[in-house]
Amino acid sequence: MEVTAPLPAHAGPQLRSLLADPLLHELGHGLGGPYHVLLPELFDSNAAAFRRAFTDAGVDGRVYYAKKANKAAVYVERAAVAGLGVDVASHGELREALASGVRGEDLVVTGPAKADELLRVAVLQGALVAVDALDELDRLLALATEVERRARVLLRRLPPEQPGSRFGLDADEMAAALHRCASDASVDVEGFSFHLSGYDIRQRADLAGELVRLCLRARESGLRADRISVGGGFAVDYVGEDDWRQFNKSLRPEHFHADKTFSGFYPYHSPVAGADGLRALLASTPVGEDTTLAGLVRAAGITLLVEPGRALLDRAGFTVFRVRGVKERDGYAILTVDGSSLSLSEQWFESEFLPDPVLVPAERQDIADAGPYPASVGAATCLESDMLTWRKIPFPVRPAVGDLLVYANTAGYQMDSNESPFHDLPLPPKVVVDRPADRFRWRLDRRHF
Ligand SMILES: *Cc1c(COP(=O)(O)O)cnc(C)c1O
Repeated sequence: MEVTAPLPAHAGPQLRSLLADPLLHELGHGLGGPYHVLLPELFDSNAAAFRRAFTDAGVDGRVYYAKKANKAAVYVERAAVAGLGVDVASHGELREALASGVRGEDLVVTGPAKADELLRVAVLQGALVAVDALDELDRLLALATEVERRARVLLRRLPPEQPGSRFGLDADEMAAALHRCASDASVDVEGFSFHLSGYDIRQRADLAGELVRLCLRARESGLRADRISVGGGFAVDYVGEDDWRQFNKSLRPEHFHADKTFSGFYPYHSPVAGADGLRALLASTPVGEDTTLAGLVRAAGITLLVEPGRALLDRAGFTVFRVRGVKERDGYAILTVDGSSLSLSEQWFESEFLPDPVLVPAERQDIADAGPYPASVGAATCLESDMLTWRKIPFPVRPAVGDLLVYANTAGYQMDSNESPFHDLPLPPKVVVDRPADRFRWRLDRRHF
């Protein structure tokens, strides 16, 4: 039977050594089910790479970790220690960030139609608020007057190239917002923001150019306007270019359990990813300008904010399931694991988390047989559609009960954004693993659910 091309996930040295370490099987035994591993050292190095991109370009920049990408405490704790800002979009996220030691003034509060209590605490904490709508601005100004504090504000721009977006202010609304703020002493317009879906660097450069011009114009009405936020959306490179090309070229329905088809997949390969995306953005010349974005913000005395979520979590976590059953089908197997696809959120967007899970065999003798052994991966639930992987993964050895399946690079949105205790299955605990010397050590995350 013809099988799908393999799509191995990039694995750094830390994951590679862990795959060869007895710790993963021990944790499976000790925790008695699927679990997530969090690697905070990778978060630290991703953050450092973003900061270096600013320094190398001579740009005054600030990195805000977009907290919604993962519910764990450890990443926010690392953000606090490293002096990063945090992007929060709910009262719960704000509370978590403050409790982890992030200063109020290092928060940016985003999200639509923020509740009064959230706006009020944001003002009292001196947090930056990205205002998404005119009615929200009115509520914020009233609250700021009431608590006798100045609201620190970014006005969020609706992206002209994504006119269907439900976020941000269009050109007329922006003019109205500026007019209101210019005559109100309770607000400090520190600048403008946007967040684009997709990963297009040119779109981001062009819109950042517009925000720089907005700052210059706003200053003429006496507003401060000395910072812009270009949001998140720095790509992550999950799989290699050749593997990705080969996979797409050879794709057929029969490569998936039940001949399942999908309308599209997330771009798992990205030639320019993470902090390199920021470097490329700073080096781009926005439309209508004749200098790079770095040059423009430098000349205008503007601080550039970024809010990466997924990219700060690149390779900073993975998810481990145990194989509970192996059912033979015509030319492939269906593995059943001890968790559910709620722990791989891409499955809930009519799509599939494609990077191949790594099979870590339990100790046994018969693993030298010649593969590939194609297998799909089903959940320990009673739903036909609860599949962790519809694709018939070409495993190099025959999977068996007790083996581990390790889905790499799941910290950014995959592992926990859709989890629920469906079927009364416990939520997979989160295990923080680091390696201070020559041995791995572990502990549970402060928020291990
Ligand atoms: C989701 C979000 C981010 C983070 O996006 P990533 O793609 O994870 O980098 C940043 N800013 C805002 C306003 C967001 O809504």
